[in-house]
Amino acid sequence: MTRKEQLAGVRRILVKVGSAVLTGEDGLNLQVIEQLVSDVAALRERGCQVVLVSSGAIASGKHRMGIEGKLKSISQKQAAAAVGQGRLMRVYSNAFGKHGLFVGQVLLTMSDITDRKRFLNIRNTLFTLLEWGVITIINENDTVAVDEIKFGDNDHLAAMVANIVEAHLVINLTSTEGLYDRNPTDTRKAKLIPLVAEITPEIEAAATEDATPVGMGGMKSKVLAAKKVTASGIPYIIAPGRRAGVLQEILDGKETGTLFLPSAEHLNSRKYWIAFTLRSRGRLLIDDGAKEALVRDGKSLLPSGVTQVEGDFVLGDPVTCVDSAGNAIAKGLVNSGADEIRKIMGLKTAKIEQVLGYKDYDEVIHRDNLAVTVQPAGKPKA
Ligand code: GLU
Repeated sequence: MTRKEQLAGVRRILVKVGSAVLTGEDGLNLQVIEQLVSDVAALRERGCQVVLVSSGAIASGKHRMGIEGKLKSISQKQAAAAVGQGRLMRVYSNAFGKHGLFVGQVLLTMSDITDRKRFLNIRNTLFTLLEWGVITIINENDTVAVDEIKFGDNDHLAAMVANIVEAHLVINLTSTEGLYDRNPTDTRKAKLIPLVAEITPEIEAAATEDATPVGMGGMKSKVLAAKKVTASGIPYIIAPGRRAGVLQEILDGKETGTLFLPSAEHLNSRKYWIAFTLRSRGRLLIDDGAKEALVRDGKSLLPSGVTQVEGDFVLGDPVTCVDSAGNAIAKGLVNSGADEIRKIMGLKTAKIEQVLGYKDYDEVIHRDNLAVTVQPAGKPKA
């Protein structure tokens, strides 16, 4: 299949652009931003919707404050973001304004989307902005985000937003041409990989952790994000962000950057939210029969298949299911707390009432609340 065929029908695009693309020695690189904005405006002209996840707040704020070298503390980074985010938005607002487009700012932390109600609220807001034709510019809410509630880097943030807005394609604009088969700074032999049909351990090994001095993620976090995005059925492209017209090139079907194809079996939006947004509160070890029922047959998890309960969780909490070999294979929301499951594990459903004196549910995790993260053949979905 050609690139053009692979990307046919793409209309809603999430573009992520990193600090290494947007900033230079003198803070924000206005020329690069103007160029990117024209490219986005051209996509709009051809009927596409674009949501932008943009970094650059901290780097820009740091420059504004005349700070050289690394920012020393978390509060310094947060303060720099407070200064830089406003500037970033002003620059975008001016640049998009020249094309007759309005911008809207959305700042998120991880805790904003782990709560299902807030997740749905954000979703409604983002869809309204799309309806209005506004270019939404999203960043992490760096001034308040501390470790516990952090996305960590914008590659991860963009992967989560792709699910929220149901993007048809994610384009990650970086300071390199795409993913190379080995670290391109180490050797001249490195070759660009144009197409990744499946994220194998070799592909993961090709991605190094080194980030640029201003970027956060490095290639590793981009491939990790690609795994999540493709697991939800969305294609993902890593492409050179400083090339003029790169977005149009991609939409024209040119072999630019690295395209990661969506996985054949993918998670729907809510299950994606369960799998990748929620922090697991415990583990349920399950036997081989239960594993097969979950992975191959798409069934619910019953008490009879549980062999061990780890952790202290309550009804509704997200819990990881682990197979007998110790691999995490699914995450789901439990119908009972840890203590209750300890009492009924290994038992047939008919016995539950006898043991507990009541029975609220047949399943430990209902299949509607269960996100299986491996393929039937045992290959990881993400
Ligand atoms: N949110 C950070 C900023 O705007 C960047 C994070 C990242 O580059 O991954 O400065």
